[in-house]
Amino acid sequence: MDNEKLRLGIDLGGTKIEGVVLDAEGIEHCRERIATPQGDYAATLDAVVALVSCLESEVGQPCSVGIGMPGSLSRSTGLVKNSNSVCLNGQPLHRELELRLGRPLRFANDADCFALSEAIDGAGRDAAIVFGVIIGTGTGGGIVVNRQLLSGPNGIAGEWGHNSLPWPQTEELPGPACYCGRQGCIETWLSGPGLARDHQQRYGGSQDACTIIQLAELGDTNACLTMQRYSNRMARALAGVINVIDPDVIVLGGGLSNCKRLYNAVSTQWDAYVFSDRVDTRLERARHGDSSGVRGAACLWPLQ
Ligand SMILES: [Zn+2]
Repeated sequence: MDNEKLRLGIDLGGTKIEGVVLDAEGIEHCRERIATPQGDYAATLDAVVALVSCLESEVGQPCSVGIGMPGSLSRSTGLVKNSNSVCLNGQPLHRELELRLGRPLRFANDADCFALSEAIDGAGRDAAIVFGVIIGTGTGGGIVVNRQLLSGPNGIAGEWGHNSLPWPQTEELPGPACYCGRQGCIETWLSGPGLARDHQQRYGGSQDACTIIQLAELGDTNACLTMQRYSNRMARALAGVINVIDPDVIVLGGGLSNCKRLYNAVSTQWDAYVFSDRVDTRLERARHGDSSGVRGAACLWPLQ
């Protein structure tokens, strides 16, 4: 191995911890995945340190390390907050991992890492303003401007999912209860469980989002109607984002981004809600798929 600067990314997820080493061209030199120790903060620290050591021994050199994780670090205390891996909340993860690994680390929310990865060499490459969203069990989001992740004092830039669904119809009010304590959040409509709940309330059954999407592809009438309501809600929700940050590209990732009919359906409907005579924002599927999170974590450190 030559002395080229390599960047290591860790995606610290609730069920797995994945690591990758990228070179300056974004080419992967190695990748490893281990199970996340469940509910055990100390064991999670050990697992991340072991994974970094393993990857560095594979490439034969020390790397810069970026870490993506659910939740974020509080700017005032440095402690983890808002993580659905709850054993991390309130812990000094950043400081302790820096001590253990003996170098400065960079941390970001997993949806932010997704957005960064897609903005750098994914579906949003060459775009000045990219809004990246992961639509699966939740609806995370991140904003990248000129290849720089937008990071504000509250650590919540791009968290569109806990705004209200805009331009609500009468039957959408007050909207489903959200775990954040409010009702009618975008996440309660657009997440996979939100889609499944909407379908079940209208037609019964207990299909999950993936099955409903497949049924719609096969022409099932009820599933098609559910997807029509869903795409209209997504058009409204994204029009609200376009009206604020006017992105060149919106990139979709997560399980529901695999629904091919969504892209045209949403981008033809959002015109009605965006405050402009025409809408040139593109809606694109993630290029790196499930790898965007870990690749974006590596990209938290710029090329040297
Ligand atoms: Zn909410």
